[in-house]
Amino acid sequence: MVIVKVGGSAGIDYDAVCADIAALWKAGQRLILVHGGSGETNRVAEALGHPPKFVTSPSGYTSRFTDRQTLEIFEMVYCGKVNKGIVERLQRLGVNAVGLSGLDGRIFEGRHKDSVRAVENGKVKVLRGDHTGTVEKVNTELIELLLNAGYLPVLTPPAASYEGVAINVDGDRAAAALAVALKADALLLLSNVPGLLRNFPDESSLIASIPANDVESYLEFAQDRMKKKVLGAAEAVQGGVRRVVFGDARAGLPVSAALGGAGTVVS
Ligand code: ADP
Repeated sequence: MVIVKVGGSAGIDYDAVCADIAALWKAGQRLILVHGGSGETNRVAEALGHPPKFVTSPSGYTSRFTDRQTLEIFEMVYCGKVNKGIVERLQRLGVNAVGLSGLDGRIFEGRHKDSVRAVENGKVKVLRGDHTGTVEKVNTELIELLLNAGYLPVLTPPAASYEGVAINVDGDRAAAALAVALKADALLLLSNVPGLLRNFPDESSLIASIPANDVESYLEFAQDRMKKKVLGAAEAVQGGVRRVVFGDARAGLPVSAALGGAGTVVS
């Protein structure tokens, strides 16, 4: 089993990702696709007059502050435009894909965090009314039902809180939790960079490999959102996933290349 997470940043070539996935799927590779949609969500939120608000925690992690209106815009884009766009591409390529969010069948479940600590103008503030959380539990029954019936699941945040409320969760870490729950052989985190760069944005500074027992020490090279990928990779390998790859989804055969070791390999 391979879990492929494709991000939502500018430059990602969804046609290339889907064509590669379709070929692998038809050749018998069992896989699940998890996706993001952050770039498009920012555009739609701006257009709807509710611009995105990002907050940085005291420990340096950036996340989207998700009030109820933001959550609804987030769902329109992630579960609507992006998810159905991917499912349509796969269907055109002859793959029977099914798009679901983490809410459906409670695939991704976690605790709802209503408040977030954020650094603003050098001061730590507590912001309330946040609809975020972290995936703590993956309910695999529905996914296994689909896989066993020959469908390719295409999954996206949000997740369900334990009370059944939609929560915005990080897609990389959700994919990591899924990879652990399904005992996947590999987790591929594909984005618009060649992998983890030692000197971002210098693409010639690619870190080719990271030892599985030392992932956290590479957090120092990751800025802002890349930190979540490194954290997800650490969680996946600690949970028993043998290989995590940070790969490039901008062109070519992004999934095959990452499976072949292109990018940053954590093992
Ligand atoms: P996606 O939405 O595609 O999953 P993110 O935007 O969450 O991707 O994270 C990838 C981004 O992280 C890159 O586009 C890049 O701007 C940023 N980044 C920060 N530090 C690094 C680094 N050291 N190496 C590579 N990318 C980095």
